[in-house]
Amino acid sequence: MSAVVVEKTSVATLREGAFGNATNLSCRECGHLVELGPHYACPECFGPLEIAYDFPAVTREEIEAGPRNIWRYKALLPVPTDIETSPNTEPGFTRLLKAHNLGAELGIDNLWVKDDSTNPTNSFKDRVVACALSAAREFGSKVFACPSTGNLANAVAAAGARAGIKTVVFIPSNLEQPKQVNSAIFTESLVAVDGNYDDVNKLASEIAGEEDGWAFVNVNVRPYYAEGSKTLGYEIAEQLGWRLPDQIVIPVASGSQLTKVHKAFQELITLGLVEDKPYRVFGAQAEGCSPVSVAYKAGVDAIRPVKPDTIAKSLAIGNPADGIYVLDICRETGGAVEDVTDDEVRDGIVLLARTEGIFTETAGGTTVAVLRKLVETGQLDTSLETVVINTGHGLKTLDAVAGRVGPVATIAPTYAAFAATGIA
Ligand SMILES: *Cc1c(COP(=O)(O)O)cnc(C)c1O
Ligand SMILES: [Zn+2]
Repeated sequence: MSAVVVEKTSVATLREGAFGNATNLSCRECGHLVELGPHYACPECFGPLEIAYDFPAVTREEIEAGPRNIWRYKALLPVPTDIETSPNTEPGFTRLLKAHNLGAELGIDNLWVKDDSTNPTNSFKDRVVACALSAAREFGSKVFACPSTGNLANAVAAAGARAGIKTVVFIPSNLEQPKQVNSAIFTESLVAVDGNYDDVNKLASEIAGEEDGWAFVNVNVRPYYAEGSKTLGYEIAEQLGWRLPDQIVIPVASGSQLTKVHKAFQELITLGLVEDKPYRVFGAQAEGCSPVSVAYKAGVDAIRPVKPDTIAKSLAIGNPADGIYVLDICRETGGAVEDVTDDEVRDGIVLLARTEGIFTETAGGTTVAVLRKLVETGQLDTSLETVVINTGHGLKTLDAVAGRVGPVATIAPTYAAFAATGIA
């Protein structure tokens, strides 16, 4: 499948410096090097390609002098040096909040929430899409597209509108209504597909092979897209005062984000921007789509694809492309992969809201619920500094908690009626 896409995609001559300090695409499995282009699979072994760099010396001061968005890390991304001048949604530099109340509730001394729900389209996907958009521009792509579990479609549609490039976004037809509207408001071409995400993804690969000049952000420009997730890792380290946390809990759909946050931490160590130290990476899944957690618990390396059935639709990828790397990272760092039921996901959403005033979507509910379960099962050390990532906004998955929260009473507009409620 991949070879077809590589041949079909014609690329105008790349301009000098189009990808900053990136030098090549490198196969994650065999190390084979490929020239920078809209390629994603190794021509030798079909392994996934990722970006290789020749980093110059980068200082904390240079980064700190940059804009308050992901482009402050442009030297570490496959983007041109003038990236911040082209129209984009300027995501990133979201708040890192000390979670005193949630920490007290869970018995964790030193807990932080990285709140990515405040990105331009209210999920972390704005980061990856901004990097994919830059690559699509450099490749001269005429259509900016994606298969999506929801948030990606929102981010692609918005970024395309701002950049003035045609967008076509594909979603499973059973997606939450707010996520459908949040895409359709930005694009004329929201396509609902009768099938689950894995069906939509397969269709996208087929279209990428048939149509010339389409940049599918998470298919044929996936190596560039994936690098955007590194900025979450960079920001957490910078916001902690150029320090790595001891433990971090990250939701897992395809596993790209978790893999790249780890890559970011490793790059910061290599570049001397943070002190080298051990840290544990934990992955969070919903039980109804937990292929990585199941493999982790079984102690096996192979991931068996599943048919998703969970309210955590943004994490509902039954055949996760980076699942095996998530297993490696969580095992090597002394972390774990854990899963929770849909009811626990709902509890997680309410818990974060009531303790920290942050309304997260089902993915964040999953992550918070997994954090709690990791504490309860003794897998997480409560004396260590811990970061949990909130990747999306609760307004997009209102239905998930509609039955849990609502008016405590409906009363006549009189003092007597209010007094009768016993609230005062
Ligand atoms: C896509 C998504 C994730 C997970 O992303 P992967 O990189 O595919 O693992 C997590 N949270 C939210 C809200 C998402 O939309
Ligand atoms: Zn290879």
